Amino acid sequence: ETVGALLDRVAAAHADRPALVVRAQGVRMDYRRFHAEVERVAAGLLALGLAPGDRVGIWAPNRAEWVLLQFAAPKAGLVLVNINPAYRLHELEYALNKVGCRALVLPRRFKTSHYLELLGELAPELAAAAPGRLRAARLPELREVILLDEAAAPGTRAWRELGALADAAAYAKLRKVEAELSFDDPVNIQFTSGTTGAPKGATLTHHNIVNNGCFIGEAMRLTERDRLCIPVPFYHCFGMVLGNLACVTHGACMVVPGEGFDALSTLETVQEERCTGLHGVPTMFIAELEHPRFGEFDLSSLRTGIMAGSPCPIEVMRRVVEEMHMAEVTIAYGMTETSPVSFQTVPDDPLERRVDSVGRVHPHLEVKLVDEAGRIVPRGEPGELCTRGYSVMRGYWGDPERTREAIDEGGWMHTGDLATLDADGYCRIVGRLKDMIIRGGENVYPREIEEFLYTHPKVRDVQVFGVPDAKFGEQVCAWVRLREGYAASEAEIQDYCRRHLAYFKVPHYVRFVESFPMTVTGKVQKYLMREAMVEELA
Ligand code: ATP
Ligand code: MG
Repeated sequence: ETVGALLDRVAAAHADRPALVVRAQGVRMDYRRFHAEVERVAAGLLALGLAPGDRVGIWAPNRAEWVLLQFAAPKAGLVLVNINPAYRLHELEYALNKVGCRALVLPRRFKTSHYLELLGELAPELAAAAPGRLRAARLPELREVILLDEAAAPGTRAWRELGALADAAAYAKLRKVEAELSFDDPVNIQFTSGTTGAPKGATLTHHNIVNNGCFIGEAMRLTERDRLCIPVPFYHCFGMVLGNLACVTHGACMVVPGEGFDALSTLETVQEERCTGLHGVPTMFIAELEHPRFGEFDLSSLRTGIMAGSPCPIEVMRRVVEEMHMAEVTIAYGMTETSPVSFQTVPDDPLERRVDSVGRVHPHLEVKLVDEAGRIVPRGEPGELCTRGYSVMRGYWGDPERTREAIDEGGWMHTGDLATLDADGYCRIVGRLKDMIIRGGENVYPREIEEFLYTHPKVRDVQVFGVPDAKFGEQVCAWVRLREGYAASEAEIQDYCRRHLAYFKVPHYVRFVESFPMTVTGKVQKYLMREAMVEELA
């Protein structure tokens, strides 16, 4: 099934059910209206002269237009390119040119950045161009700039013009394009988070993401009565597939609190919209649980949600189940390159398994754990997680070399994550291969020390990583965020560890910080922390 066919089917079946709520914009649509708006945008895009296979970039925070475009572009056979809203000039230029975007959709500004001015710096030609006639030296492929604001600006079109362009001829063109689409066509270029370096653009097909969205919704037991609060970014697969697409596969309602993540507005949204589900990376759930006003909110409507994206501390999971009423919360594991989810817990799993593992493998996927030589490791031992099946991406757009490094000849995606599998098939993510610390010949898994430090009453959040060391190769370092109003010393944390952990796991360095360097997806970038320590110790 294509994304467009999916929406046609679901919207017909649930026409009067709520589809989309975007609180910051005052948007409320049922599936009938949502479907009609999506079609209007799709027809408008074709009326601009865009042709199937063309890439359309969206560089924007979570807004209603993002969701409309997410479904309109695939309907029109276009390839949607998710551009990180945190990107600046250099990264934007790289992403647009790397995939050859013909059109770009953006708001005038977001947070403190003036997006349109930034684009104007890259393409001064914009100011003199007529809409649709851009010819910019540094962005040779870009023709159309579509502005998500009422007032237009030189060289751009306003978003609402798309609707105005959707005449009978445009709809006729849309029907013709749709009839020729295949579920095997690329539909989306999604960039990875950039947790370990520069983000990579994964090419995904309709088949990849529609099926993954469907299995995710099934594992969450979504129905048309569910209202899912989605504070995670749309530009990333978490918001786009685990959030929006999973909702649409089951006729559920997407509820969007605001443009960017904010703990308070998320809590308010859940209460006021009576949300039944809530998504987040662990750092978001921590921010909600630790918010000074957390206790004031009635979250009793919550039932489910997904915690994913980085290691989910057991302590945090327990609090989410108990204090946020999310009895059926599920943990998912995946990566952009695999559409993304490949493991997920289900409500039937015993609670211990649901908090300490990422569950069992999703339907129709194969999985194996291998050592450095590619041999399958004995059951229970850590190895690199490899997955194979319908959800594996086509490749990194325009990058056959890196694609070959990631997907081997047998079709196995090498995830770069270390995992263990138990006899019942439950998977535990031990950590990233790149983050494993080798101290004096001992393998140290940061995750284990992090889990332990979460049990310290003063610790609010903690990250453990290795720093280069002349004598031991690497030393263990912990960055700690303390709970509000508490103080602690390096020695105190080390003593606490020393009583319970082997000597080589005790952090040699402990630093107290206010925050961690993070991607927009809320993932901690350990490589930047490592660089900061190297500088400090030099
Ligand atoms: P980049 O590849 O650009 O460095 P990234 O790997 O963080 O960034 P994503 O595709 O967004 O980009 O994230 C996938 C990765 O997130 C996985 O490879 C894994 O390391 C981590 N991850 C996802 N879910 C979980 C989870 N439930 N537990 C532990 N780690 C997870
Ligand atoms: Mg990755």
